[in-house]
Amino acid sequence: MSIAASIKKYRTQLGDVQLVAVSKTKPASDIQAAYDAGQRHFGENKIQEMAAKYELLPKDICWHMIGNIQTNKIKYMASFVHLVHGVDRKKVLVELNKQAAKHDRMISCLLQMHIANEDTKFGLNEEELREILVELDQYPNVCVEGLMGMATNTSDAKVVSAEFAYLKSLFDEFQNPLQWTTLSMGMSGDYKLALGHGSTHVRIGSAIFGARNY
Ligand SMILES: *Cc1c(COP(=O)(O)O)cnc(C)c1O
Repeated sequence: MSIAASIKKYRTQLGDVQLVAVSKTKPASDIQAAYDAGQRHFGENKIQEMAAKYELLPKDICWHMIGNIQTNKIKYMASFVHLVHGVDRKKVLVELNKQAAKHDRMISCLLQMHIANEDTKFGLNEEELREILVELDQYPNVCVEGLMGMATNTSDAKVVSAEFAYLKSLFDEFQNPLQWTTLSMGMSGDYKLALGHGSTHVRIGSAIFGARNY
């Protein structure tokens, strides 16, 4: 299926759920093809790659940083990033706040929770989450809009479902008091399960752009 056809298929299927088209490692021409099919939200996992693509592509694209954050690179995206999904430690909040203030703007972000039973996936545990939530007023230029998580990479739907359900339960606990809007969960292989658990943003890469060659 072409990139344009995939975009149309997912946008129709997802309805009000935001499609973040994950374009990491893919050329600007692929992003342009998706853009021409109506897609405006794109996800990248390396700050400098995203900044280079930002320079090349239409300025009404909403850029999502979905990868793990190196704090010394935040300055390269601070002027334009739309949503930072992978905030998993205080140091990132401190630097986001500092760089956002320099640009006289707010930067929106999500706190990434560790929900998978794999050591390799980044994220906060519940205790760290609660610690961060009580001190959000230290970061006046950062707006925490919700949570993000990555499920275990397994074909066992029960495992993935349980992880998404857990993330949703945390989201529900804080949604009202904190006016959260965004629950980012689901990728090419598990987005249907994520939708069943109330995802508001799915991050889909290979199912749209094809397999990645690293
Ligand atoms: C690469 C990536 C995705 C997209 O993965 P696909 O399986 O290609 O859809 C989603 N989320 C994060 C955090 C990623 O790094």
